Amino acid sequence: MSKFTSDLVNGIAPYVPGEQPRGKTFIKLNTNENPYFTNKNAIKIIDKGVLEKLNRYSDPECSSLTKAIADYYGVDKDNVLVTNGSDEALAFAFFAYGKSGVCYPDVTYGFYDVIANLYCCPIEHIDLNNDFTVDETMYFNSGKTVVIANPNAQTGIELPKEKLENITKNNQSNVVIVDQAYADFGENNAIDLIKKYPNLLVINTFSKSRSLAGARVGYAIGDKALIEDIKKVKNSFHPYNVNSISAALAEQAILDDEYFKATVQKVKKSRNVLSEELKQLGFICLSSSANFVLAKHGKISGDQLYLKLKDNGVLVRHFNDKRISDFVRITVGTEDEIAELLRITKTIINDEI
Ligand SMILES: *Cc1c(COP(=O)(O)O)cnc(C)c1O
Repeated sequence: MSKFTSDLVNGIAPYVPGEQPRGKTFIKLNTNENPYFTNKNAIKIIDKGVLEKLNRYSDPECSSLTKAIADYYGVDKDNVLVTNGSDEALAFAFFAYGKSGVCYPDVTYGFYDVIANLYCCPIEHIDLNNDFTVDETMYFNSGKTVVIANPNAQTGIELPKEKLENITKNNQSNVVIVDQAYADFGENNAIDLIKKYPNLLVINTFSKSRSLAGARVGYAIGDKALIEDIKKVKNSFHPYNVNSISAALAEQAILDDEYFKATVQKVKKSRNVLSEELKQLGFICLSSSANFVLAKHGKISGDQLYLKLKDNGVLVRHFNDKRISDFVRITVGTEDEIAELLRITKTIINDEI
């Protein structure tokens, strides 16, 4: 750190991403990426002349992708803002609405604390129930911007749509942000509620269900007025926030719906196999509606299991947060990757017993 920074910068605790190893090959089940290719049409973007147009700036409105997303969800293009990953959409929303405070579960996506601190938004953590579900009544009339990841990050547990609607209905004087990074793997998409609730901002990403983590594309969907707010932040920060290649890839991912649905089904099926097999080995698994499973075993601590798996070439994620430090989070990989993880886990557990 140099001597030139302010106290604010000195005090920042930045987000620590999951390991992205280069060189040694791991079975990589640690950052909730999708193991499958993004879409059958991706290669077509080259035929469409996207590369030839790279000397020009990208479209600051991302018009074509915005329209594809709006059409897909049956909303107007003025209800959509495309961003550089959904982390950027979250950052714009925290900047726009977080000044008087943000509240969210004590166990959730770690990036919320980081952005809230960066933008000086006072934070209230609301405890999940003992079974890691959200008690929706704790969010009613919160007087703060509510942020709910649904399904929740780290736990994978999904809040039923009626409960989410109740939170939104009971917070009409503030914004409710629903982070749907994993919603395509679950059953409770809230996008249609934006027509009913002008305080609801849904944020989504192409990184997980649409296999484009490296392209960095996300979006926010909400009432026109909310989109105007965050667009204002975007245009004050980075008007050309999404590059033309990524925007074109994301558009193809939306258009290739059949492939998308088939891929999501494959991941859901493998997730259920993974949970069932882990339970057979004596694990406790939280019921996941996402593309990962949070699991713990009475015979071995979360960090020991993480380390032993890593020694054996499998990367999973372990969090030090008190409430989930006994667990590891395993991303759903291909069928072969899951089989290998289970084989290695079995030998580790047998050694421990
Ligand atoms: C992965 C993830 C994101 C970030 O996604 P990007 O679009 O890659 O920035 C946001 N929220 C949650 C809950 C996530 O798990």
